[in-house]
Amino acid sequence: MRSHALKKKAFLATAAAAGITMVFPVLCAASENDIQTYTNTDFAMDTVVSETLYTTGDDINSKLTSVLTDVETNLLSWTNESSQIYKVNADSGKDKEISDELSGYLERLLKIAKDSDGAFDPTIGKLIRLWDIGGENQKIPEEAEIKNVLKDSGYQKVSLDGTTIRMDEGCSLDLGAAGKGIGCDVVSDFLKTQEDVSGMILNLGGSSVMAYGEKPDGSDWKVAVTDPRDVEGDYLGAITLEGGEFLSTSGDYEKYFMEDGKRYHHILDPKTGYPVWNGLDSVTVVCDSGLLADGLSTACFVLGMDDALELLEKYNAEAVFVDEDKNVYLTSGMKDRFELMKNTYTVKELQ
Ligand code: ADP
Ligand code: MG
Repeated sequence: MRSHALKKKAFLATAAAAGITMVFPVLCAASENDIQTYTNTDFAMDTVVSETLYTTGDDINSKLTSVLTDVETNLLSWTNESSQIYKVNADSGKDKEISDELSGYLERLLKIAKDSDGAFDPTIGKLIRLWDIGGENQKIPEEAEIKNVLKDSGYQKVSLDGTTIRMDEGCSLDLGAAGKGIGCDVVSDFLKTQEDVSGMILNLGGSSVMAYGEKPDGSDWKVAVTDPRDVEGDYLGAITLEGGEFLSTSGDYEKYFMEDGKRYHHILDPKTGYPVWNGLDSVTVVCDSGLLADGLSTACFVLGMDDALELLEKYNAEAVFVDEDKNVYLTSGMKDRFELMKNTYTVKELQ
């Protein structure tokens, strides 16, 4: 898509200049079982993909990148005519057959939509395109335009019956808020079929991470958390993950533009039609599914901390909230696994 090249270039330049990777792989000697370490940087799902694979077999990193590209091309893309989402959108108002796989994802996403009272809403495709934040036509739309597209959104406009989907005419799906998490799940499922692979860390653009299996030396997986107001500088902190866990961050720094001192960013409130301004800069969620981590991080960002806590509890997920006053709030299960790395921030107790 149009911003690929630029984003990729900017990311690589930043990473090279800072001499960092988004994850901290602890390089270790091959163990007695001859486990090899293969690292790779690639591009898929509109983002930079960092892969560190531990295996006694071949380097399958590029195969894993192509698994991600397939998910985007065949399932999730709203611009690619061969994707199922594209076809569902093109045929809104009619019954449509979709794959088991997509219907499973949609069922879980619609549940997050319901459980978050519509804070997360995969049907705001038209609203997302109207703002086009981070795209070539980004702008502050007229109030009337926003009202007009909001008439066509609402997760209740979608019904699923097995693999048959029906959506009100004009409604438009956008799974951008969970796509990278779904990609992590698909890679994780693929790895389960690869007996040679003992561990992997997969990082999609720094905002969706999968930890799989274990490192040869048995040490923890550690993932960096971006400082939302110093994106290219030092990290805000690090989170320890276990194999089988997924992490996702949603923040107002990923795609945005500034106008009159206001930050117009890519996480939109489906109720107002405007970017979410509630004092949060970022939310990072950890749980045992990529789809959930990604969906929940977006939902929690929109809900704000108080309502988000209830949602997280329901899904047995942990989180780190960063607010505009440089406070960091941790859920109880996060306390022992988060390490603050910047003294300009303060870790505060949740009330
Ligand atoms: P990123 O994709 O940058 O890691 P998110 O997972 O938070 O961050 O997803 C943000 C994307 O999700 C937006 O670019 C847009 O496509 C979509 N989106 C924005 N607001 C919502 C929302 N309230 N519900 C569902 N999807 C949203
Ligand atoms: Mg998300």
